[in-house]
Amino acid sequence: MADRTVDFLLIGGGMASAHCAAELRKRGAEGSVLLVGREPEPPYERPPVSKEYLRGEAERADAYVNSLSWYEENGVELLSGRNVMSLDPKARSVKIQGGEEVAFGKALIGTGAMVNILRVEGAENEGIHYLRAFGNSDAIRAEAEAAEHVVLIGGSYIGTEVAASLTAKGARCSIVAMEDVVLSRTFGDDAGRWFQELIEAKGVEFHGGEELEAFEGDGRVNAVVTKSGLSIECDMVVVGAGVRADVMLAERAGLEVENGIVCDSKLQTSVAGIYAAGDCCSYDSVVHGRRLRVEHWDVAMQQGVHAAGNMLGDDRDYEVVPYFFSDLADWASLEYVGPAQDWDEEIWRGDREGGEFSVWYLKDGRVAGALSVGRSEDLAEARRMLADRVDVSGAGEAIADADSDLSAIS
Ligand SMILES: Cc1cc2nc3c(=O)[nH]c(=O)nc-3n(C[C@H](O)[C@H](O)[C@H](O)COP(=O)(O)OP(=O)(O)OC[C@H]3O[C@@H](n4cnc5c(N)ncnc54)[C@H](O)[C@@H]3O)c2cc1C
Repeated sequence: MADRTVDFLLIGGGMASAHCAAELRKRGAEGSVLLVGREPEPPYERPPVSKEYLRGEAERADAYVNSLSWYEENGVELLSGRNVMSLDPKARSVKIQGGEEVAFGKALIGTGAMVNILRVEGAENEGIHYLRAFGNSDAIRAEAEAAEHVVLIGGSYIGTEVAASLTAKGARCSIVAMEDVVLSRTFGDDAGRWFQELIEAKGVEFHGGEELEAFEGDGRVNAVVTKSGLSIECDMVVVGAGVRADVMLAERAGLEVENGIVCDSKLQTSVAGIYAAGDCCSYDSVVHGRRLRVEHWDVAMQQGVHAAGNMLGDDRDYEVVPYFFSDLADWASLEYVGPAQDWDEEIWRGDREGGEFSVWYLKDGRVAGALSVGRSEDLAEARRMLADRVDVSGAGEAIADADSDLSAIS
Protein backbone atom coordinates (compact mmCIF):
# COMPACT_ATOMS: atom_id res chain seq x y z
CA MET A 1 0.00 0.00 0.00
CA ALA A 2 1.52 3.33 -1.07
CA ASP A 3 2.15 6.04 1.50
CA ARG A 4 0.45 8.55 -0.76
CA THR A 5 -0.76 9.15 -4.31
CA VAL A 6 0.08 11.97 -6.71
CA ASP A 7 -1.56 12.73 -10.04
CA PHE A 8 1.67 13.46 -11.93
CA LEU A 9 5.03 12.00 -10.96
CA LEU A 10 8.12 13.37 -12.73
CA ILE A 11 11.17 11.17 -12.25
CA GLY A 12 14.56 12.85 -12.73
CA GLY A 13 15.43 16.42 -11.92
CA GLY A 14 16.56 17.73 -15.30
CA MET A 15 15.29 19.86 -18.18
CA ALA A 16 12.66 17.39 -19.33
CA SER A 17 10.94 17.07 -15.94
CA ALA A 18 11.15 20.79 -15.18
CA HIS A 19 9.53 21.77 -18.48
CA CYS A 20 6.93 19.07 -18.10
CA ALA A 21 5.98 20.49 -14.68
CA ALA A 22 5.80 24.02 -16.06
CA GLU A 23 3.63 22.97 -18.99
CA LEU A 24 1.25 21.00 -16.77
CA ARG A 25 0.59 24.12 -14.72
CA LYS A 26 0.50 26.39 -17.78
CA ARG A 27 -2.19 24.18 -19.25
CA GLY A 28 -4.21 24.43 -16.05
CA ALA A 29 -3.68 20.90 -14.73
CA GLU A 30 -4.98 21.00 -11.18
CA GLY A 31 -3.74 17.67 -9.83
CA SER A 32 -0.75 17.17 -7.56
CA VAL A 33 2.70 17.22 -9.21
CA LEU A 34 5.78 15.67 -7.59
CA LEU A 35 9.25 16.07 -9.18
CA VAL A 36 12.00 13.84 -7.75
CA GLY A 37 15.65 14.46 -8.68
CA ARG A 38 18.88 12.88 -7.51
CA GLU A 39 21.03 16.00 -7.68
CA PRO A 40 21.04 18.47 -4.79
CA GLU A 41 20.10 21.32 -7.13
CA PRO A 42 16.69 22.09 -8.60
CA PRO A 43 16.51 21.28 -12.34
CA TYR A 44 19.04 23.32 -14.29
CA GLU A 45 20.27 23.79 -17.84
CA ARG A 46 23.54 22.00 -18.50
CA PRO A 47 24.91 24.01 -21.47
CA PRO A 48 26.48 26.70 -19.21
CA VAL A 49 28.32 23.94 -17.32
CA SER A 50 30.91 23.75 -20.15
CA LYS A 51 30.62 27.41 -21.13
CA GLU A 52 29.89 30.55 -19.08
CA TYR A 53 29.58 28.73 -15.74
CA LEU A 54 32.89 26.93 -16.34
CA ARG A 55 34.53 30.26 -17.16
CA GLY A 56 33.17 31.76 -13.93
CA GLU A 57 30.94 34.20 -15.81
CA ALA A 58 27.59 32.93 -14.49
CA GLU A 59 26.12 31.73 -11.22
CA ARG A 60 24.37 28.43 -10.62
CA ALA A 61 21.01 30.10 -10.15
CA ASP A 62 21.29 31.69 -13.62
CA ALA A 63 20.91 28.19 -15.06
CA TYR A 64 17.88 27.08 -13.01
CA VAL A 65 15.00 26.17 -15.34
CA ASN A 66 12.43 27.54 -12.86
CA SER A 67 13.32 29.70 -9.87
CA LEU A 68 13.07 27.99 -6.49
CA SER A 69 10.04 30.09 -5.58
CA TRP A 70 8.29 29.01 -8.79
CA TYR A 71 7.81 25.49 -7.45
CA GLU A 72 6.11 26.73 -4.30
CA GLU A 73 4.02 29.32 -6.09
CA ASN A 74 2.82 26.73 -8.59
CA GLY A 75 2.17 23.90 -6.19
CA VAL A 76 4.86 21.63 -7.65
CA GLU A 77 6.50 19.56 -4.93
CA LEU A 78 10.25 19.40 -5.52
CA LEU A 79 12.18 16.57 -3.90
CA SER A 80 15.84 17.27 -4.72
CA GLY A 81 18.74 15.09 -3.61
CA ARG A 82 16.53 12.01 -3.68
CA ASN A 83 16.74 8.95 -5.87
CA VAL A 84 13.79 7.04 -7.24
CA MET A 85 14.92 3.56 -6.29
CA SER A 86 12.36 1.42 -8.08
CA LEU A 87 9.31 1.64 -10.28
CA ASP A 88 6.44 -0.85 -10.23
CA PRO A 89 4.46 -0.34 -13.44
CA LYS A 90 1.64 -2.70 -12.40
CA ALA A 91 1.05 -1.08 -9.03
CA ARG A 92 1.81 2.28 -10.67
CA SER A 93 4.05 3.32 -7.81
CA VAL A 94 7.67 4.13 -7.02
CA LYS A 95 9.90 3.75 -4.00
CA ILE A 96 11.87 6.86 -3.15
CA GLN A 97 15.19 6.93 -1.32
CA GLY A 98 14.32 7.11 2.35
CA GLY A 99 11.58 4.53 1.99
CA GLU A 100 8.50 6.46 0.93
CA GLU A 101 6.25 4.69 -1.57
CA VAL A 102 4.31 6.98 -3.90
CA ALA A 103 1.54 5.89 -6.25
CA PHE A 104 0.85 7.95 -9.34
CA GLY A 105 -1.76 8.55 -12.02
CA LYS A 106 0.61 9.49 -14.87
CA ALA A 107 4.41 9.54 -14.85
CA LEU A 108 7.28 10.98 -16.85
CA ILE A 109 10.74 9.40 -16.86
CA GLY A 110 13.36 12.07 -17.47
CA THR A 111 16.42 10.36 -16.06
CA GLY A 112 18.80 11.84 -18.64
CA ALA A 113 22.16 10.36 -19.53
CA MET A 114 25.37 9.19 -17.91
CA VAL A 115 28.88 9.91 -19.15
CA ASN A 116 30.93 7.10 -20.63
CA ILE A 117 33.80 6.30 -18.26
CA LEU A 118 37.11 5.27 -19.83
CA ARG A 119 38.40 2.17 -18.10
CA VAL A 120 42.00 2.22 -19.30
CA GLU A 121 45.21 1.68 -17.38
CA GLY A 122 45.88 4.56 -15.01
CA ALA A 123 42.24 5.65 -14.90
CA GLU A 124 42.38 5.72 -11.11
CA ASN A 125 44.83 8.66 -11.07
CA GLU A 126 43.69 11.98 -9.61
CA GLY A 127 43.17 14.85 -12.01
CA ILE A 128 41.02 12.96 -14.56
CA HIS A 129 37.66 14.67 -14.88
CA TYR A 130 34.29 14.03 -16.48
CA LEU A 131 31.73 16.73 -17.05
CA ARG A 132 27.99 16.52 -16.50
CA ALA A 133 27.04 18.55 -13.44
CA PHE A 134 27.86 21.83 -11.67
CA GLY A 135 30.18 20.02 -9.22
CA ASN A 136 32.31 18.63 -12.08
CA SER A 137 32.56 22.10 -13.57
CA ASP A 138 33.65 23.60 -10.23
CA ALA A 139 36.40 20.98 -9.86
CA ILE A 140 37.65 21.51 -13.44
CA ARG A 141 37.71 25.29 -13.08
CA ALA A 142 39.57 25.13 -9.77
CA GLU A 143 42.26 22.74 -11.04
CA ALA A 144 42.62 24.44 -14.43
CA GLU A 145 43.63 27.67 -12.72
CA ALA A 146 46.87 26.05 -11.58
CA ALA A 147 47.34 23.61 -14.50
CA GLU A 148 50.11 24.08 -17.02
CA HIS A 149 48.68 21.75 -19.62
CA VAL A 150 45.16 20.35 -19.88
CA VAL A 151 44.45 17.41 -22.20
CA LEU A 152 40.92 16.92 -23.47
CA ILE A 153 39.96 13.41 -24.57
CA GLY A 154 37.34 13.53 -27.34
CA GLY A 155 36.90 15.78 -30.36
CA SER A 156 33.19 16.41 -30.09
CA TYR A 157 31.19 19.08 -28.22
CA ILE A 158 32.48 18.62 -24.69
CA GLY A 159 36.13 18.40 -25.79
CA THR A 160 35.95 21.44 -28.04
CA GLU A 161 33.77 23.56 -25.74
CA VAL A 162 35.91 22.88 -22.68
CA ALA A 163 39.12 23.46 -24.65
CA ALA A 164 37.71 26.80 -25.82
CA SER A 165 36.52 27.83 -22.35
CA LEU A 166 39.78 26.91 -20.60
CA THR A 167 41.94 28.44 -23.35
CA ALA A 168 39.92 31.65 -23.04
CA LYS A 169 40.78 31.58 -19.31
CA GLY A 170 44.49 31.28 -20.09
CA ALA A 171 45.14 27.52 -19.90
CA ARG A 172 47.16 25.60 -22.46
CA CYS A 173 44.91 22.89 -23.96
CA SER A 174 45.38 19.91 -26.28
CA ILE A 175 42.66 17.68 -27.69
CA VAL A 176 43.27 13.97 -28.31
CA ALA A 177 40.58 12.37 -30.48
CA MET A 178 39.84 9.26 -32.49
CA GLU A 179 38.40 11.40 -35.30
CA ASP A 180 40.88 12.89 -37.76
CA VAL A 181 39.06 16.21 -37.61
CA VAL A 182 37.14 17.82 -34.72
CA LEU A 183 33.34 17.68 -34.78
CA SER A 184 33.50 15.64 -38.00
CA ARG A 185 31.22 12.87 -36.75
CA THR A 186 28.23 15.18 -36.96
CA PHE A 187 29.33 17.76 -39.53
CA GLY A 188 31.73 15.89 -41.81
CA ASP A 189 35.41 16.58 -42.45
CA ASP A 190 34.95 19.78 -44.43
CA ALA A 191 32.92 21.69 -41.83
CA GLY A 192 34.92 20.03 -39.05
CA ARG A 193 38.09 21.49 -40.57
CA TRP A 194 36.62 24.97 -40.34
CA PHE A 195 36.19 24.53 -36.57
CA GLN A 196 39.57 22.89 -36.24
CA GLU A 197 41.37 25.76 -37.98
CA LEU A 198 39.54 28.15 -35.68
CA ILE A 199 40.51 26.44 -32.42
CA GLU A 200 44.10 25.86 -33.59
CA ALA A 201 44.39 29.55 -34.47
CA LYS A 202 43.34 30.30 -30.89
CA GLY A 203 46.11 28.06 -29.53
CA VAL A 204 44.42 24.68 -28.98
CA GLU A 205 46.63 21.76 -30.11
CA PHE A 206 44.82 18.92 -31.85
CA HIS A 207 45.96 15.29 -32.11
CA GLY A 208 43.48 13.47 -34.36
CA GLY A 209 43.31 9.79 -35.30
CA GLU A 210 44.60 8.81 -31.85
CA GLU A 211 43.10 6.17 -29.59
CA LEU A 212 43.73 6.38 -25.88
CA GLU A 213 45.92 3.61 -24.45
CA ALA A 214 46.54 4.70 -20.87
CA PHE A 215 46.88 7.51 -18.38
CA GLU A 216 50.24 7.72 -16.64
CA GLY A 217 50.81 9.07 -13.18
CA ASP A 218 51.92 8.30 -9.68
CA GLY A 219 48.65 9.02 -7.97
CA ARG A 220 48.07 12.09 -10.10
CA VAL A 221 47.89 12.03 -13.89
CA ASN A 222 51.03 13.36 -15.59
CA ALA A 223 50.68 12.02 -19.15
CA VAL A 224 48.23 10.69 -21.72
CA VAL A 225 49.48 7.83 -23.90
CA THR A 226 47.84 6.76 -27.15
CA LYS A 227 47.89 3.42 -28.98
CA SER A 228 50.17 4.86 -31.68
CA GLY A 229 52.76 5.63 -28.97
CA LEU A 230 52.13 9.34 -28.64
CA SER A 231 52.75 10.55 -25.10
CA ILE A 232 51.54 13.98 -24.01
CA GLU A 233 52.60 15.38 -20.67
CA CYS A 234 49.86 17.09 -18.73
CA ASP A 235 48.73 17.82 -15.22
CA MET A 236 45.02 17.50 -15.82
CA VAL A 237 42.60 15.66 -18.15
CA VAL A 238 38.96 16.26 -19.05
CA VAL A 239 37.20 13.38 -20.80
CA GLY A 240 34.32 13.98 -23.22
CA ALA A 241 33.72 10.48 -24.56
CA GLY A 242 29.99 10.63 -25.05
CA VAL A 243 27.04 9.65 -22.91
CA ARG A 244 24.53 6.85 -22.76
CA ALA A 245 20.89 7.02 -21.77
CA ASP A 246 20.23 6.39 -18.08
CA VAL A 247 17.77 3.52 -18.41
CA MET A 248 18.57 1.78 -15.13
CA LEU A 249 15.26 2.45 -13.40
CA ALA A 250 13.20 1.73 -16.52
CA GLU A 251 15.07 -1.46 -17.31
CA ARG A 252 14.67 -2.85 -13.80
CA ALA A 253 10.96 -2.03 -14.01
CA GLY A 254 10.65 -4.14 -17.17
CA LEU A 255 9.95 -1.28 -19.57
CA GLU A 256 11.15 -1.80 -23.13
CA VAL A 257 14.68 -0.45 -23.49
CA GLU A 258 17.02 -0.28 -26.47
CA ASN A 259 19.58 2.50 -26.66
CA GLY A 260 17.19 4.47 -24.46
CA ILE A 261 13.70 3.97 -23.12
CA VAL A 262 11.63 2.90 -26.11
CA CYS A 263 8.70 5.24 -26.75
CA ASP A 264 6.08 5.48 -29.46
CA SER A 265 5.65 8.60 -31.58
CA LYS A 266 3.70 10.19 -28.70
CA LEU A 267 6.60 9.69 -26.24
CA GLN A 268 4.68 7.02 -24.35
CA THR A 269 6.77 4.10 -23.08
CA SER A 270 5.76 0.46 -23.37
CA VAL A 271 3.49 1.05 -20.34
CA ALA A 272 0.39 3.19 -20.89
CA GLY A 273 0.42 6.45 -18.95
CA ILE A 274 4.20 6.41 -18.42
CA TYR A 275 6.07 8.75 -20.74
CA ALA A 276 9.77 9.46 -21.29
CA ALA A 277 11.49 12.63 -22.49
CA GLY A 278 14.97 14.05 -23.04
CA ASP A 279 18.30 12.22 -23.19
CA CYS A 280 16.83 8.90 -21.98
CA CYS A 281 14.03 8.80 -24.57
CA SER A 282 14.30 6.78 -27.77
CA TYR A 283 11.15 7.56 -29.75
CA ASP A 284 9.59 6.68 -33.09
CA SER A 285 10.15 9.85 -35.06
CA VAL A 286 7.47 10.39 -37.68
CA VAL A 287 9.64 13.17 -39.15
CA HIS A 288 12.66 10.91 -39.70
CA GLY A 289 10.85 7.62 -40.23
CA ARG A 290 13.15 5.92 -37.72
CA ARG A 291 13.71 5.56 -34.02
CA LEU A 292 15.66 8.48 -32.67
CA ARG A 293 17.46 9.45 -29.50
CA VAL A 294 19.36 12.71 -29.23
CA GLU A 295 21.05 14.53 -26.39
CA HIS A 296 20.05 18.11 -27.05
CA TRP A 297 18.99 20.80 -24.62
CA ASP A 298 16.14 21.97 -26.86
CA VAL A 299 14.83 18.43 -27.34
CA ALA A 300 14.69 17.74 -23.60
CA MET A 301 12.69 20.94 -23.20
CA GLN A 302 10.33 20.35 -26.13
CA GLN A 303 9.74 16.72 -25.23
CA GLY A 304 9.01 17.59 -21.61
CA VAL A 305 6.40 20.07 -22.81
CA HIS A 306 5.00 17.62 -25.34
CA ALA A 307 4.73 14.78 -22.83
CA ALA A 308 2.79 17.09 -20.50
CA GLY A 309 0.28 17.72 -23.27
CA ASN A 310 -0.16 14.04 -23.93
CA MET A 311 -0.54 13.34 -20.20
CA LEU A 312 -3.44 15.78 -20.37
CA GLY A 313 -5.00 13.93 -23.30
CA ASP A 314 -3.62 15.68 -26.42
CA ASP A 315 -2.67 12.33 -27.97
CA ARG A 316 -0.30 14.01 -30.47
CA ASP A 317 2.81 12.74 -32.27
CA TYR A 318 6.07 14.47 -31.37
CA GLU A 319 7.08 16.11 -34.66
CA VAL A 320 9.66 18.74 -33.74
CA VAL A 321 12.89 18.67 -35.78
CA PRO A 322 15.78 18.34 -33.28
CA TYR A 323 17.85 21.48 -32.79
CA PHE A 324 21.29 21.74 -31.21
CA PHE A 325 23.65 24.63 -30.47
CA SER A 326 27.22 24.89 -29.24
CA ASP A 327 29.48 27.82 -28.35
CA LEU A 328 33.26 27.78 -28.55
CA ALA A 329 33.95 30.54 -26.01
CA ASP A 330 33.20 33.80 -27.82
CA TRP A 331 35.07 32.54 -30.90
CA ALA A 332 32.08 31.00 -32.71
CA SER A 333 28.55 29.73 -32.17
CA LEU A 334 27.07 26.91 -34.18
CA GLU A 335 23.52 25.70 -34.58
CA TYR A 336 22.31 22.52 -36.17
CA VAL A 337 19.06 20.84 -37.18
CA GLY A 338 18.84 17.20 -38.15
CA PRO A 339 20.28 14.84 -37.23
CA ALA A 340 21.55 13.52 -40.56
CA GLN A 341 22.36 9.83 -40.25
CA ASP A 342 24.39 10.03 -43.44
CA TRP A 343 24.34 12.17 -46.55
CA ASP A 344 25.34 11.99 -50.21
CA GLU A 345 25.64 15.71 -50.95
CA GLU A 346 26.94 18.71 -49.00
CA ILE A 347 26.19 22.28 -50.05
CA TRP A 348 27.89 25.34 -48.58
CA ARG A 349 26.04 28.67 -48.54
CA GLY A 350 27.50 32.02 -47.50
CA ASP A 351 30.89 33.26 -46.47
CA ARG A 352 33.21 30.53 -45.19
CA GLU A 353 36.18 32.85 -44.67
CA GLY A 354 34.06 35.47 -42.94
CA GLY A 355 32.50 32.86 -40.65
CA GLU A 356 28.88 33.36 -41.78
CA PHE A 357 27.73 30.23 -43.56
CA SER A 358 25.42 27.28 -43.51
CA VAL A 359 26.18 23.74 -44.65
CA TRP A 360 23.36 21.63 -46.03
CA TYR A 361 23.51 17.84 -45.79
CA LEU A 362 21.29 16.15 -48.39
CA LYS A 363 20.30 12.52 -48.73
CA ASP A 364 18.43 11.27 -51.81
CA GLY A 365 17.49 14.84 -52.75
CA ARG A 366 16.04 15.69 -49.33
CA VAL A 367 17.46 17.82 -46.50
CA ALA A 368 18.82 15.51 -43.79
CA GLY A 369 20.53 18.15 -41.67
CA ALA A 370 21.91 21.68 -41.71
CA LEU A 371 24.61 23.50 -39.80
CA SER A 372 24.78 27.25 -39.34
CA VAL A 373 27.49 29.57 -38.18
CA GLY A 374 26.01 33.05 -38.07
CA ARG A 375 23.11 32.29 -40.43
CA SER A 376 20.29 31.23 -38.11
CA GLU A 377 17.70 32.33 -40.64
CA ASP A 378 18.85 29.55 -42.99
CA LEU A 379 18.14 26.95 -40.32
CA ALA A 380 14.47 27.87 -40.08
CA GLU A 381 14.13 27.08 -43.78
CA ALA A 382 16.20 23.90 -43.49
CA ARG A 383 14.00 22.77 -40.64
CA ARG A 384 10.86 23.35 -42.74
CA MET A 385 12.30 21.45 -45.71
CA LEU A 386 13.39 18.59 -43.49
CA ALA A 387 10.01 18.31 -41.76
CA ASP A 388 8.07 18.52 -45.05
CA ARG A 389 10.52 16.24 -46.88
CA VAL A 390 10.75 18.85 -49.66
CA ASP A 391 12.39 17.53 -52.85
CA VAL A 392 15.47 19.78 -53.21
CA SER A 393 17.21 17.74 -55.89
CA GLY A 394 16.91 20.60 -58.41
CA ALA A 395 17.56 23.36 -55.88
CA GLY A 396 21.29 22.94 -55.26
CA GLU A 397 22.26 26.20 -57.00
CA ALA A 398 19.60 28.17 -55.15
CA ILE A 399 20.74 26.79 -51.80
CA ALA A 400 24.37 27.60 -52.60
CA ASP A 401 23.51 31.17 -53.60
CA ALA A 402 23.66 33.12 -50.33
CA ASP A 403 21.30 35.80 -51.69
CA SER A 404 18.57 33.47 -52.91
CA ASP A 405 15.18 33.29 -51.20
CA LEU A 406 15.07 29.88 -49.52
CA SER A 407 11.38 30.22 -48.73
CA ALA A 408 10.73 29.85 -52.48
CA ILE A 409 11.99 26.26 -52.35
CA SER A 410 8.95 24.12 -51.62
C1 LIG B 1 28.37 20.01 -20.03
C2 LIG B 1 27.22 19.91 -20.97
C3 LIG B 1 27.01 20.87 -21.94
C4 LIG B 1 25.95 20.76 -22.82
N1 LIG B 1 25.79 21.72 -23.78
C5 LIG B 1 24.77 21.62 -24.66
C6 LIG B 1 24.60 22.60 -25.68
O1 LIG B 1 25.38 23.54 -25.79
N2 LIG B 1 23.56 22.47 -26.52
C7 LIG B 1 22.67 21.44 -26.43
O2 LIG B 1 21.73 21.39 -27.23
N3 LIG B 1 22.81 20.49 -25.47
C8 LIG B 1 23.84 20.55 -24.59
N4 LIG B 1 23.99 19.60 -23.62
C9 LIG B 1 23.01 18.51 -23.55
C10 LIG B 1 21.80 18.89 -22.72
O3 LIG B 1 22.20 19.56 -21.57
C11 LIG B 1 21.00 17.64 -22.38
O4 LIG B 1 20.50 17.13 -23.59
C12 LIG B 1 19.87 17.92 -21.40
O5 LIG B 1 20.37 18.36 -20.17
C13 LIG B 1 19.03 16.67 -21.17
O6 LIG B 1 18.07 16.92 -20.20
P1 LIG B 1 17.33 15.72 -19.46
O7 LIG B 1 16.29 16.35 -18.61
O8 LIG B 1 16.94 14.69 -20.43
O9 LIG B 1 18.46 15.01 -18.58
P2 LIG B 1 19.44 15.54 -17.46
O10 LIG B 1 19.71 17.00 -17.61
O11 LIG B 1 20.59 14.61 -17.45
O12 LIG B 1 18.61 15.34 -16.11
C14 LIG B 1 18.27 14.08 -15.62
C15 LIG B 1 18.34 14.13 -14.11
O13 LIG B 1 17.70 12.97 -13.58
C16 LIG B 1 18.48 12.46 -12.51
N5 LIG B 1 18.14 11.04 -12.28
C17 LIG B 1 18.50 9.96 -13.02
N6 LIG B 1 17.97 8.84 -12.50
C18 LIG B 1 17.26 9.22 -11.41
C19 LIG B 1 16.49 8.50 -10.45
N7 LIG B 1 16.33 7.18 -10.51
N8 LIG B 1 15.92 9.21 -9.44
C20 LIG B 1 16.07 10.55 -9.37
N9 LIG B 1 16.78 11.28 -10.25
C21 LIG B 1 17.36 10.61 -11.26
C22 LIG B 1 19.90 12.70 -12.96
O14 LIG B 1 20.79 12.67 -11.87
C23 LIG B 1 19.77 14.10 -13.58
O15 LIG B 1 19.91 15.10 -12.60
C24 LIG B 1 25.05 19.67 -22.72
C25 LIG B 1 25.25 18.69 -21.75
C26 LIG B 1 26.31 18.80 -20.87
C27 LIG B 1 26.53 17.73 -19.83
